[in-house]
Amino acid sequence: MSNDAPVKKKRKFELDPRLAAYKGVWVFIEHERGQVHPVSWELLGEGRKLADMLGVELAGVVLAAPGDDGQRFCHDAFAYGADLCYLMESPVLKDYRNDPYTRGMTELVNTYQPEVLLLGATTQGRDLAGSVATTLLTGLTADCTSLTIDLENRSLAATRPTFGGSLLCTIVTLNYRPQMATVRPRVMAMPERQEGRGALINARIVEHPLAMAEESIITKVLDYIPDDSRDKPQLPFADIIVSGGKGLAKQENFQLVWDLARVLGAEVGASRPVVQAGWAELDRQVGQSGKTVRPKLYIAAGISGAIQHRVGMEGADCIIAINNDPNAPIFDFAHYGIVGDALQILPALTEAFRQKLATTRRAG
Ligand SMILES: Cc1cc2nc3c(=O)[nH]c(=O)nc-3n(C[C@H](O)[C@H](O)[C@H](O)COP(=O)(O)OP(=O)(O)OC[C@H]3O[C@@H](n4cnc5c(N)ncnc54)[C@H](O)[C@@H]3O)c2cc1C
Repeated sequence: MSNDAPVKKKRKFELDPRLAAYKGVWVFIEHERGQVHPVSWELLGEGRKLADMLGVELAGVVLAAPGDDGQRFCHDAFAYGADLCYLMESPVLKDYRNDPYTRGMTELVNTYQPEVLLLGATTQGRDLAGSVATTLLTGLTADCTSLTIDLENRSLAATRPTFGGSLLCTIVTLNYRPQMATVRPRVMAMPERQEGRGALINARIVEHPLAMAEESIITKVLDYIPDDSRDKPQLPFADIIVSGGKGLAKQENFQLVWDLARVLGAEVGASRPVVQAGWAELDRQVGQSGKTVRPKLYIAAGISGAIQHRVGMEGADCIIAINNDPNAPIFDFAHYGIVGDALQILPALTEAFRQKLATTRRAG
């Protein structure tokens, strides 16, 4: 850069003294039918880093009905990094409904004043985050891909794709508190669970009641229909994924992806054009408008590596790209690249792994 290059000046900023009283990082602990959504633990891992940067406590927020195991969720939250938990129990919090959950969360925020509030970008988290931010008149950055703290002004710097994924923008909420953000499942790494951590650090549970009559709530739960997604592909939780792109040229060739996946015990993923062409179901689409995945191994065959695909899979521990164009963008971030025809390389890999597995089995 030459000396004449324009210097980017940061806006001078002073936080309103009333807002400076807001302290602490909070994570909403989402649960359903006795199960905490794993994104809550991922967010505690990320929240821990933010809280340490700010020098404040990390809290989990559990809204539940009596008998929902709220105490257990708090102790689990301690094992994943929380210093304390706010537990609000009321019969109206039995199943998730926007009204009572928004009322409960806003009451907790107004009482205990956190500076950062994180929620999973799940159906429940998105619904709650929007109405809490609107009620509290504060800023919310949705679907973030990274979070950090700008220590100069203690602001949460929340980065997310924008303009159809062609740019990444970092958003700060300077003049309002709390600073809210949602993050999709599997975008952040799962922290290690530390049994007994709660007792070790004297973690506390702060119980806070919710005075809200059932009659005042307009939505009623009439029935519970279990989500059938357990029967669908579980891409976000797969350890190995073999993904195919439009470079495979036609539907019959996509079978080569399935063949390799079967030998490796992997899930099958796809780029958006493949899904749009009907070669794979929508549940297999990886990327900005599909699933975010974090496998140990991601094999991408005939995929260019467009930013909208990349944001869904770059968290993989190891990415192997097969592409016949040495200048394909995917080679910029893949750990291993194979330049060549996927129609020849996929069957060769399938055969090599089949033989290797057969040898290992015979030896074992
Ligand atoms: C708002 C928005 C959201 C989007 N969301 C997503 C999303 O969630 N997921 C997603 O994937 N995309 C998404 N896209 C589309 C994205 O921009 C790209 O168009 C898409 O990822 C490209 O898919 P592809 O790499 O399979 O196909 P192409 O871009 O057509 O690339 C094919 C690649 O295969 C290579 N190739 C060709 N023949 C062979 C061969 N024989 N052997 C090996 N390699 C070969 C080519 O060199 C090329 O790199 C989105 C776009 C927008 C605008």
